[in-house]
Amino acid sequence: MKKITPKAILMLLTTFPLWIYAQDQPFFKAPEGQSFVSTDLHIHTTFSDGSVWPNIRVEEALKERLDLISITDHLEYQPHRNDLPNPDRNRSFDIANGIAKKSKLTVIRGAEITRSMPPGHLNAVFIQDANKLLFPDDPIAGIEEANRQNGFVFWNHPNWETQRKDGIAKLDPMHVELIERKLLHGIEVVNFTTFSEEAIEIALENNLTMLGTSDVHKLTTWDFDILQGGHRPMTFVISKDNSTKEVKKALFEGKTMVWFKELMIGEEEYLLEVVKANISASSPSYKDDELIAKVTLKNYSANPLHLKYTGPFTFHQDGTIFKIEPYGEKSIDVKTLEIKTSFELPFELLNSVIGRKKYLSFTIKTQ
Ligand SMILES: [Zn+2]
Ligand SMILES: [Zn+2]
Repeated sequence: MKKITPKAILMLLTTFPLWIYAQDQPFFKAPEGQSFVSTDLHIHTTFSDGSVWPNIRVEEALKERLDLISITDHLEYQPHRNDLPNPDRNRSFDIANGIAKKSKLTVIRGAEITRSMPPGHLNAVFIQDANKLLFPDDPIAGIEEANRQNGFVFWNHPNWETQRKDGIAKLDPMHVELIERKLLHGIEVVNFTTFSEEAIEIALENNLTMLGTSDVHKLTTWDFDILQGGHRPMTFVISKDNSTKEVKKALFEGKTMVWFKELMIGEEEYLLEVVKANISASSPSYKDDELIAKVTLKNYSANPLHLKYTGPFTFHQDGTIFKIEPYGEKSIDVKTLEIKTSFELPFELLNSVIGRKKYLSFTIKTQ
């Protein structure tokens, strides 16, 4: 047998965290018959207040296995203008799109409409021309124009402490008006490193699509500990296929799941589809004449699943709260009191948020 040298161990340790990106498997299995498209719809470059050229955003996204991104530079906030006059607000998209065309990454045109509160910052994506969204004296006109261009508009970081001192997302009358006029279609429940349960509530109450984005200005590797096995916040879209048209349609329909650290966030209906596609339970096996069923649970995703069993049985070798590692398996010994060929296992997924302090409940049947 080949000897394991200290150098080999060191190499293994330093490269191990990258394995979720190196896997052939997707981050999550798609719900049956659908596509599960990984996106980041909030990204900056040197064309506003970011620190990198658009090509780096494309390379990062490809390395991090995203399917679709939007470069959303600030329209109004141009701190690099002395070095980079930027008369054409479509340039960062044009450069990124030109590079991505040769790859499997899709880049869509976008911009960040950047105002004081209200309405704060809003991203417009799937637009036709970013220049036409610039209205320095009118906070609403750019949003109306984005809608004329059939864009998807969402409210960025509604919990941003610079604009909301208490970190609490709440609607101002202007947001209510935008929602009533159907000019606002989504809201970030996750932005960069922050998470807002109040934003989830606003999304559910007003039928807005939930989004999670990186809002990256520097390098994703630094900001999201990619080398240590981290990942940027992503919005997964449950769409008929990978086409831009279907992704856009599904976004308007609210069919998303946000992946933030170890949290899976979204509407109950859609999260249930995702979770059911990403966990299975083997058929029970019993040893000799014992009445303890051995069942193997399998996690098909890159996310750990923190489970709480909520059914009537107790387990022989575990408590009823446990974790299944990414792409891992976990064997449980269930004291079923009688021999069963099959039975149901009801769980709560403790890292799956479907509302303010609400977590997804689901049931899997052994095979
Ligand atoms: Zn912003
Ligand atoms: Zn931003």
